[in-house]
Amino acid sequence: MPEAKTKPLRVLAVANQKGGVGKTTTAINICAALAAVGEKVLLIDADPQGNASTGLGVPRHMRAKTLYDVLMDGVSIADAAVQTELPGLKLLPSEPDLSGVELELGQTPRRSFKLKDALAAVRAEESYSYALIDCPPSLNLLTINAMTAADAVLVPLQCEFFALEGLTQLMRTVELVKGSLNPALQIQGVVLTMYDRRNSLSAQVARDVREHFGDKVYETIIPRNVRVSEAPSFGKPALIYDLKCSGSQAYLKLARELVTRERVERASAV
Ligand code: ADP
Ligand code: MG
Repeated sequence: MPEAKTKPLRVLAVANQKGGVGKTTTAINICAALAAVGEKVLLIDADPQGNASTGLGVPRHMRAKTLYDVLMDGVSIADAAVQTELPGLKLLPSEPDLSGVELELGQTPRRSFKLKDALAAVRAEESYSYALIDCPPSLNLLTINAMTAADAVLVPLQCEFFALEGLTQLMRTVELVKGSLNPALQIQGVVLTMYDRRNSLSAQVARDVREHFGDKVYETIIPRNVRVSEAPSFGKPALIYDLKCSGSQAYLKLARELVTRERVERASAV
């Protein structure tokens, strides 16, 4: 049965080449929050480690077709996407073989456009209102594909001493993609994650990031919260594992802020 039409798709790449900054956690929980308020959401797991797939309770035996098949063998996203526990949320899973894509695509024409080309059908069907791409911790061809396919980049930053380090490189990559592959690409926002209010360094980092990125930085700050880190081992978004915990509440607030920003973007796109 064809799915009901929804509003035009917005594609957000969740990217930061540093590992462990909260990309996957942020992607999963924003997707869960959006699905909970009735949006049709697709999470694209673009990390060969498959943390988003595991964290959403899709074990390897349920990943019949993956992003690898979509990028390399022309399998449609509609055929590869798996339903998650949340009715409004589907997952395009990944497996370790995804790490071979860089080498296997070699100098293939449109190697940077593989994901964008696959998403064209999804955009045309209008079966989703949001797709979030959980990028790997690297600025490799997978991240380039994500940025080329995306409308905007969402950058999670961990509140730690080296938070701003490496961001120059990330911003340079965004500019590079903008200059050649995807002129419309924007920075959707910067999210401060794993904030520890007992640590004065966290507050200092938050101030520095706001100074640097101004109102691109979301008001909502995600606190360090043990419930958030436990949730993936149960294959559930924190929002489902423990809705009341401070981390889930913060992600709900962040999603509300994100929707407000997106509403402005959608309105100006018309
Ligand atoms: P990335 O995708 O950038 O590598 P993850 O989202 O996987 O980062 O997060 C790295 C680790 O930190 C994971 O073990 C995750 O469970 C944990 N984590 C992420 N966000 C929080 C948080 N707000 N509070 C506590 N732990 C967190
Ligand atoms: Mg990750």
